[in-house]
Order: sequence, then structure tokens, then C-alpha cells
Amino acid sequence: MSTTAPAAGQLPVADTPAVRRAFLRLLLTEKRRAAVAVGLHLVAAVAAAVAPLLLGEMLDRLTAGSGTGAIDRLALGLVASIAAVIGFTWAGTFVSHRLGERLSARMRVEFVDRALRLPMPVVEQAGSGDLMTRSSADVPEAGVLFRDGLPQITVSILKVIVFLGAMLWASPLLGLCMLVVVPPLFIGTRWYLKRARTGYLNERQAESAIGDTIGASADGARTTETYRLRDRRDAAGDATVARHWAAARYTLFLRSVFFPFLDGAYALPTATVLLVGGALYFDGAVTIGTVASCAVLTRQIMFPIDHILMWVEKVQRGFAAMSRIEGVAEAEDTEANATAERPVDGTVDLIDVRYAYPSGTRDVLHGVTLSVPAGQRLAVVGPSGAGKSTLARLISGSDTPREGRAAIGGVDVAALPLDERRRRVTLVTQEHHVFTASLRDNLILARADASDAELNDALAAVGADWAFDLPDGLDTALGGKARELDAASAQQIALARIILADPDVVILDEATAMLDPRAARDTERALAAVLEGRTVIAIAHRLHTAHDADRIAVVEDGRVAELGSHDELIALDGHYAALWRAWHGGAENRADADDGEPEHREEDLASAGNPL
Ligand code: ATP
Repeated sequence: MSTTAPAAGQLPVADTPAVRRAFLRLLLTEKRRAAVAVGLHLVAAVAAAVAPLLLGEMLDRLTAGSGTGAIDRLALGLVASIAAVIGFTWAGTFVSHRLGERLSARMRVEFVDRALRLPMPVVEQAGSGDLMTRSSADVPEAGVLFRDGLPQITVSILKVIVFLGAMLWASPLLGLCMLVVVPPLFIGTRWYLKRARTGYLNERQAESAIGDTIGASADGARTTETYRLRDRRDAAGDATVARHWAAARYTLFLRSVFFPFLDGAYALPTATVLLVGGALYFDGAVTIGTVASCAVLTRQIMFPIDHILMWVEKVQRGFAAMSRIEGVAEAEDTEANATAERPVDGTVDLIDVRYAYPSGTRDVLHGVTLSVPAGQRLAVVGPSGAGKSTLARLISGSDTPREGRAAIGGVDVAALPLDERRRRVTLVTQEHHVFTASLRDNLILARADASDAELNDALAAVGADWAFDLPDGLDTALGGKARELDAASAQQIALARIILADPDVVILDEATAMLDPRAARDTERALAAVLEGRTVIAIAHRLHTAHDADRIAVVEDGRVAELGSHDELIALDGHYAALWRAWHGGAENRADADDGEPEHREEDLASAGNPL
């Protein structure tokens, strides 16, 4: 897939040859239906060309004083040709619209599939506005191209060819009169096409920018209010709207020059045929019927030409939309380079890993080396901003180290094909989305072929007993206005998905941080059984999580400062030991009323005066 450079922070845009290839590839998936549609429209076009020829013949016979029998036969032929035009046009339109709908549906499915496969950093960098505009504006725009544009343009081209053929057959000289329309159409269309692609692309990109700006303003509304940034947000909004206005004005200018110009050009061929035809008739070179047939055909031919040119603009828009839709496919190319190797087990290895965020100027990990044998549990603790979540992203393959390796079972995790990676490693963060869908649909995201019994087992394993009291069981609609779930229940759904996905490696990035301490402990207890046998990397917010792990890595400023079991680190008497003493001291003095476990010390390690 070749692409043109995207605007900073936007997803790529495919270039024209790539879009043409994509268009053809889609079309070839329905080649039989396409052939039937072309055949039906071809017959309709021939029938439509026969009608003016019969009309001319009737005129000549009438002028020559032929008997009514011959005229009647010609009139019957005329009626038959009109009936054929109606019948075949209807059948051709039916088939070609079905074809268009199927192609449009296929394109949508491909787009969604590709969007879901986009690497996380790509989406983060591009911003949700760009992807949203591509799905909400570009996909429908390109859909119009397939549904309406493709059938209409094909039919129009067929008609032009057939009508021109009929004119040339009736009188080559009068047929050639059609050529007068070619220079103005060529010059006008070339002028328009040269400018339209860039014009419509700019308009679309400006629309994306408006989406991004509105989204950012809405997301940061509180911050805007707090820091009185309203004027700045307004200015940013005004700037993007001004850019869109300029882009839209430019495309309007193109249309307002091109289309009136076309109207003038259309009058030329009929006038020429009548002029030349008149002269030829008086010379006796053609009959009056031939002149009449050709004059009617020039009018007939203008409709499909006008249709084609009307569609030129929409095709431009459609192709611009397709460039942006196909641009998303670049992610598939990363799949093309995926390794064929498969991890031998769930061992996690980080070897001298260095990493800088694309938007950052400095490394946030400075040569981290860690090895977690398959089935072991490593807790990662450290102050806010130390690099714990970044480590989680690298181990999950969401990002690739700038230097060094992040491997699972001996294979670079980011090089694994997406499906394999999703099967091998699951990252659970505190953001757990419940989709507006049934409980079943929310669960089978993790494994599409899971049976109801397996779904129920997974729910039971994470202690989601509430799910068994739902009115419609697994069919109960969740999310949105249907049934809002609290954070703990949403978290349990996320954890049940892990059981269903059955990965070798599970990364819990503060997965229980949003739950209240008791709910978190309950979930973690349930998790302990669920995680049995898997390699677990737990970014620990609560010290008891670290205590229960096989080993603990203390991460500080992008480096592993301490590594060992709880007892080893206590014996080392370093940062971890200091934190543990502070926490444990509190635990002894403040027993929780219910279960005797410390409560307030289980807050965020960083915010609770964390000495790490
Ligand atoms: P916390 O406990 O607060 O979640 P953390 O230890 O998980 O912190 P990271 O989120 O990994 O730390 O962040 C490490 C460094 O990388 C920080 O300096 C942070 O500002 C920076 N950082 C994190 N995400 C991004 C991003 N998307 N772009 C640029 N810099 C980032």
C-alpha cells in the first residue's frame, strides 16, 4: 500500500494508484453480478438508440408517401424498443444497485476490521477525530460511489458509446459533429479534476480537525473552566472552522465555474448537427429523417454525458474518501511483516529496553532488563511517572521498544500477528468499557465461540454473582441507558474476558485501582485462582498485591531500582522496605473494623506519601 504523507498527527492517506487498485479489488469480488448488470444495460442502451433511428425512418417514409402498413410496422417497432428500454433498464438498475449495496457493505466491513486492527499508538497519535470522520463521513461518501456512482457511470458510458455508434452508422459525417463537444469538455474537466482531489481532501481534513477540536474542548471542559482557557479554546475552534470554511469555499468555487461551463458546451453538438445536417440535406447527401435521428441522438447523448460529468464531482469526493479509508489499511502492512515464529511459553523477557514516546523528547525507560519465567507473578511498584504503564504497553506489544527487546516465549511480542498477540497476552487497565450490548456480546469479545456454560463459569470465577440475577440472563442489555454497571461490576466483566481469552501472560495495569479496597480485595482473591498457571505482571497500587507476588520490581525514573521477593527486598532495606514499614506500621495500628486489614494505607502508593 503506497500512501501520501499524512498531515501531522493524522492517519495516512492512500495515493491514487492505491485507491484504484482497492476499487478494482472490490469490484472483482462481484464480477459475475457486474457482468450481468453491464449486459442488461447494454441491451437497454441499444434499444434506446434504435428508437430515434426508427423515428427518422418513419419521417423519411412519410415524406416519401409510403403506405400506412410500413408506418404501422415502424410504429410497432418504436413501441417495442421503448418497452425494451423500460424493461432492461429496470432489470439492469435492480442488479446494479444490489451490486453497489454489496460492494458498499464489503467496504464497510473491511474498514471496521482494519480500524479495529490499528495499533494503539497510531490511534493515539492520530486522535479519535480523524478516525471518527473517516468512519462517519468518508465511509458513507465512498458508499455512495459504489451504490449509485458505479451503476450510473457504467450505464452512462454504455449509452454514450451506443448512441455515438448509432449516429456514425446513420451518417458518419453527422456523427463526427459530436466531436465539437470534446475540446470544451476536455479542457473544462481537466481544469476541474486537477484541483478537485486536493480540494476535497483538504475539506475532509478540515472537518476532522473540527471534530478533534470540539472533542478536545469537551473532554477538557473542566480544565478549561478551572484555568480560564475559554478564550484560547474558542480561538482554536475559530481557527479550525476558518480552515474548513476556506476549504469548502474553494470547492464551491470549483463547482460554480465548472457546471455553468458544461451547460454552455452541451448546446454545441445539436446546433452543429442541425447546421451541417441542413446543408447536407439541401445537397441531397442525407435524408431529413437522418438529420432528425441524429439531432435526437445528440440530445439523448447529452444526458449520459451530463450524468458522467455530474458524477465527476461525486467520484472525486468518493475517491478522496476512499483515499482516507484505504489509508487506514497501512496498519495491515505491519501485519504483513509479522513474524511466523510462535512463543514457546509465557516467559516474559525485557532486554535492555529503552523507549521514548513519539510525542516526547526524552527516553522514559532507560535500559530495563527483566525476566519473568512462565507462570510467575511479578509486581511492579514505583512512583507516579516512573514508567510502569509504559512497561506494560511494551510487554503487551502495544508499542515497540526504541532499543532492546520485549519478548514473550522468546519472540518479540510486537512482531506477532495481532490475533496471536491477543491470544498470548492480555492487558487489563482500570479503563474497562462496557459496550451497549447484551452481557453475552460483552463477554464473547474475548472469544467468539465461547458457550453459555463457559461464559457463566467465567462470571462465577470472578465473583460476578449479580450477573446470575439479571432478568434476561446473558441476553440482558448492558451499558448506555439500558443498565449502567458500577465500576466493580464493569471490572468483573473485564476480568471474565481474561478467563475466556485464556492468555499465557496477563498484565494488570492498576486493574483494581478504581474499586473500593474491599471490592478490590474480593476481585483480587477471585483473580488469584483465575491467574493460576499464567505469567502475571501486576502494576501494583496496593502493597498487599506486591506482597503476594513471587517477585517485586521497584521501578524508579525508567529504571529497575530493586528486584527480588518480598523477603529479599525487606532484607535489602531499601525503598521497598521503607514503604512496607510505613504501610505495615499503619496496618498494625489501624485494623479494619470488618476484617482486620489496613484500609486507608491501601491508597495510591504515589499519593500516600510513597517514598519509592
Ligand atoms: P502512574 O503510576 O502515574 O500511572 P507510571 O509509572 O505508569 O505512572 P507512565 O505512565 O509509564 O508512568 O509514564 C512514564 C513517563 O512517560 C512519564 O513521564 C509520562 O509523563 C510519560 N508518558 C506517559 N504516557 C505518555 C504519552 N502518551 N506521551 C508522552 N509521554 C507519556
